[in-house]
Amino acid sequence: MTDARPGRRQAIVLGAGFAGLVAARVLADHFDQVVMIERDDLAGEGARRGVPQSHHPHAFLARGHEILQQLFPGLAPELLALGACNAEMLSEVRYVFQGYPIKQVPIGLHVTLASRPFIEAQMRRRVRELANVEVRERWELAGITTEGPRVTGARIISLDTGASETLSGDLVVDCLGRSGRSSAWLEELGFARPGEDRVGSGLTYASGRVRLAGGAPSGDRTVIVTAVAGRTRGLVLIEQERGEWMLSVHGYGAGNVPPSDEAGFMEFARDLAPADVRQALEGAQLLGKVELFKVPHSTRRRFDKLRRLPAGLIALGDSLCSFNPVYGAGMTSAAMQAITLGECLVATQSRPQALPRAYFRAASRVVSQPWWFALLADFLLLEVSGKQPFGMPLIRRHLTRTLAAAEHDGELAGDLFRTIGMVAPITRLISLRSLLRIYRRR
Ligand SMILES: Cc1cc2nc3c(=O)[nH]c(=O)nc-3n(C[C@H](O)[C@H](O)[C@H](O)COP(=O)(O)OP(=O)(O)OC[C@H]3O[C@@H](n4cnc5c(N)ncnc54)[C@H](O)[C@@H]3O)c2cc1C
Repeated sequence: MTDARPGRRQAIVLGAGFAGLVAARVLADHFDQVVMIERDDLAGEGARRGVPQSHHPHAFLARGHEILQQLFPGLAPELLALGACNAEMLSEVRYVFQGYPIKQVPIGLHVTLASRPFIEAQMRRRVRELANVEVRERWELAGITTEGPRVTGARIISLDTGASETLSGDLVVDCLGRSGRSSAWLEELGFARPGEDRVGSGLTYASGRVRLAGGAPSGDRTVIVTAVAGRTRGLVLIEQERGEWMLSVHGYGAGNVPPSDEAGFMEFARDLAPADVRQALEGAQLLGKVELFKVPHSTRRRFDKLRRLPAGLIALGDSLCSFNPVYGAGMTSAAMQAITLGECLVATQSRPQALPRAYFRAASRVVSQPWWFALLADFLLLEVSGKQPFGMPLIRRHLTRTLAAAEHDGELAGDLFRTIGMVAPITRLISLRSLLRIYRRR
């Protein structure tokens, strides 16, 4: 009898965060068995230690939301039934991008709004329902196992009993987040360590859940005010599940660190808020404490550029590329990488050893658009460190003109949002049609 899935009996997913969940969902279609290893206790619905960014707003881009429905059909209505809310992408989302309020018109794209732990809990429930996926919580990764240049599994330790176990796997997927270990493992195995593209933004977030006394500002379900050159501070007010909102502020550099005490935090927010949002914040009740999170830099690990890679190991999610969170691309990029992984598993079915190279190259193309978008937007602020992209003065001028035009031109605003949402290529903004709309304006 021939094996229908040669070399694809068991996959091991390290980390059960957002990337781990979408990866496991995809791998379940290609492997007999998928085992997820997670250090945290996954019982509750609140923010957990391993994902401290859960205290901060997490919004989907349009493409990420589409993929979530594709991987977990019916999840959006389930989330709504449990208390999440739904927003039309542009008419109910106010985006003041680098000082330009983008024209709010309906563009037919919808996203679910809810806190990260709330969404993750429901995704986890759906993954646990898959017959061939086992989620092992409170198990810590101790290391990987290898055979020559091939990764063959993982060593794990139970946080409850101290027992250790070795799991064998035909594929190990590093979904350990920003602290992903694949680069170090490659080096230990005698391969080159992948280079890193790094942009230092020195960003600090401060966020708290709030109840608004008078409801939504001007009917919007999300208000995003990004930093501008000379005032590198921003604000997000976003509706969450069960009538709560998340108020979040951020600042670039040491001089813009938001305070974590309630009075200072609210003052910092009021100072950035448009008049109607300031009014909506009057009498707002802070639920719980203000949480801080520092994001010193964004990092893209260039596994795609390595000439030699070990078989049996890939990285997905923040372990491959972590973005400046202000542009909300992390979850969407991880979801797109998971889809890419599925495609590469099909393409390399008869030669599993070719998977890492095929995957890292394809995933690099997925990562490029949001990486470049964030990089260009960050460089408009002039307060980030890193190598400036070639032609920056021209790009800066074009982006600024695009934003200025999108303040009044609904069609262009829609194109801008579709591009940011990764349902349209970034080249849409330099098409002849867009150029005419942007530069014809006086
Ligand atoms: C402040 C902030 C705001 C953000 N806002 C947005 C947003 O609006 N939209 C968006 O799309 N993205 C946003 N992001 C990015 C988003 O959080 C990440 O892209 C996303 O969490 C990546 O998922 P991941 O699974 O790769 O990593 P993580 O979610 O960090 O998950 C890693 C998992 O690995 C586990 N783990 C780690 N080490 C071990 C070990 N040794 N053994 C076992 N398990 C281990 C952890 O417990 C955790 O469960 C934001 C990020 C930050 C910091």
